[in-house]
Amino acid sequence: MSVNHQLVVTIDGPAGSGKSTVGKALAEKISYVYLDTGALYRAVAYRAHNEKIMPGDGAHLSKLCNEIVISLETRDGGLRIIIDGDDVTDKIRTEEIGLLASRISAVPIVRESLLSIQREVGSAGGIVAEGRDMGTVVFPRADIKFYLVADVIERSRRRYDELIERGESVDFEEIYRGLLVRDEQDSGRSIAPLRAAEDAVIIDTTYRSIDEVVDTMKRIIEERCGNGA
Ligand code: C5P
Repeated sequence: MSVNHQLVVTIDGPAGSGKSTVGKALAEKISYVYLDTGALYRAVAYRAHNEKIMPGDGAHLSKLCNEIVISLETRDGGLRIIIDGDDVTDKIRTEEIGLLASRISAVPIVRESLLSIQREVGSAGGIVAEGRDMGTVVFPRADIKFYLVADVIERSRRRYDELIERGESVDFEEIYRGLLVRDEQDSGRSIAPLRAAEDAVIIDTTYRSIDEVVDTMKRIIEERCGNGA
């Protein structure tokens, strides 16, 4: 069975739960567009950091959001994030920018300004959208919603391995503490908090390989929406 090409598939969950890795692999497997919405928040955070705008400075964040031009380009099979012509794909992947993204993402104007770009990418369907509020706020009528969870030590280990692989010098303890802070910020905020949509399929990825999780998701999509096309 194959997958209908107009579906909207959402994946939410905390940092390090495997959303990006399985989201990318799933999108590739079913020939869908992959949308990493965390990258959008990171892009705004990166710009705010460069311009020394504090996370609580709503006026300057609002100005920044009105001016910033973010484009997503697929190149060599990967998604590139371009801000005002500058390819920041790798620069936004640090823990510092992740934590800052978590703080500025609680600011309503930031969420509002990123909503339209996300919905625009998803408007034609055929998309795997990954983030914190995909199934609850951005695509509440998505065809299939997944919510990934994993033990915090395992999530820290994944993040640690990822950063080491990129040649960064990182401390495990610091990553672990950073994840706890982000979990708290992301799920405790009043606007679009991190939580599973009521109709989401919850998958614990702690002891599952990437392939296992992707295969499980693909099977669920086919069972629910396969059209034999
Ligand atoms: O997924 P990633 O770690 O790249 O996301 C960075 C931060 O952006 C998250 O900690 C979260 O606060 C924020 N985010 C969000 N809503 C999304 C995606 C990310 O608030 N849909």
